[in-house]
Amino acid sequence: MKRLSIKFKVTFWFTLIMILIVAATLAFLFYMGEKIVYEETNARLTDAVDDSFSEIKYRFGELDIDDDLDYYNEGVYIAVYDSDNKLIYGRLPSDFDRALPFRYGEMQAIGNDENVKYVLDEVRDVGKGYEVTVRGVLSTSGSERAFSAMLSVALIAFPALIIIAALVGYLLTKRAFKPVKQIVSSAEHINSGNDLSKRIGLEDGKDEIHQLANAFDMMFDRLQESFENEKRFTSDASHELRTPIAVIIAEAENALDSGETQGEARRALEVIYETAADTSVLISSLLMLARADKGHLKLNKEIIDFSEICRLVSELTAETAEEKEIAVTFESKESIFIDGDQAMLIRMLLNICENGIKYGKNGGRLDISLEKDGKYAVCHIIDDGIGISDEGTKRIWERFYRVDEARSDGSGLGLPLAKYIAEAHGGTITVKSELGKGSEFCITLPIYER
Ligand code: ADP
Repeated sequence: MKRLSIKFKVTFWFTLIMILIVAATLAFLFYMGEKIVYEETNARLTDAVDDSFSEIKYRFGELDIDDDLDYYNEGVYIAVYDSDNKLIYGRLPSDFDRALPFRYGEMQAIGNDENVKYVLDEVRDVGKGYEVTVRGVLSTSGSERAFSAMLSVALIAFPALIIIAALVGYLLTKRAFKPVKQIVSSAEHINSGNDLSKRIGLEDGKDEIHQLANAFDMMFDRLQESFENEKRFTSDASHELRTPIAVIIAEAENALDSGETQGEARRALEVIYETAADTSVLISSLLMLARADKGHLKLNKEIIDFSEICRLVSELTAETAEEKEIAVTFESKESIFIDGDQAMLIRMLLNICENGIKYGKNGGRLDISLEKDGKYAVCHIIDDGIGISDEGTKRIWERFYRVDEARSDGSGLGLPLAKYIAEAHGGTITVKSELGKGSEFCITLPIYER
């Protein structure tokens, strides 16, 4: 039941309650109907039989029956029997069983459902100890026939009514829950597309569901506003930091170049210069991601030979790799053209290759290869370094995440930025890694087709 839609549940319970009410009403009608008919018939027969006795007297040795005694009155037949149970006056319906034994003081019902006859026998002393029996017979009354006809109609009509009510109920609930569908699809859209500008936007209405949708829309307004503020802050802050860092780098560079500073002071200047350079990279990554979030990061696309870019990056990486004696290889059989932003693609590849060196072991390897796979250029960057745990491979794409903070002197922004660049070009980046054995990054980008 838990898995069923609210529409179905409401219709189910509503129909069940209808069935119970209808069944109870029918049972009550049957019970009360029978009772009322029985009592009404009994009263009519008793009155008719009582009245008859007042017209019968025994005097002067013979029975005197007044002419006023009707043998048929308003559906009741009256028959009078002498003390030997011989019919002496009155009449009975033609289809009545004349041999029916007397049963005094209690009304009997005979015949079948189609044709019921109610019989009341009464014996009384009509004078001088002479006993006379009066039998009253009433055929099924008109009201009872009307009542049973009504019941038959009710037996057909009520179930039909239940079916119609269930159908109408279902359609009404479906209609009432239509806005909920709209709420769900908007929420899914926001969730899947990360599009906080989307609203549910139900038309005007005052019911609870419209109130809920409006409350959601207001919440989305607030959320969007605070997200925008946060993004603006990151973007403004990185922008503002760029100039002072550039000044620090330039000044440190000048001082180092002039050669006037020596010894301890020179080493301090070198540290300042390197730290400022790292911070500059961090700030530019932050700015790029902030602009990407705002949708302001533009790709300066052109048709480029991606294998040439990979070669260039492999050469740049090989220089950095010298210190750790890591052998960098590059393999590509053909030129593969893609429509992309050269500077960004170099940034993406460098971020991954430099990680291969940073987290590679001394005297290890870094193999870069490029090949075509259908409509995609596929670039593999494989190292035999420290590797990444399973938990780590899931989280390395998060901003500022570092598997082992003590071992990383980076910012945790390199991979998120690389992923953003690949996706902005319609591509993907994935990783496979094993702790202690190494990592394999795989980049796919759509090939430019003329
Ligand atoms: P960082 O600037 O810290 O390198 P990244 O976003 O480039 O930030 O990488 C996130 C984390 O992923 C790193 O801190 C490191 O722990 C892990 N990582 C990335 N590349 C590799 C690799 N080739 N081998 C092992 N660990 C890696």
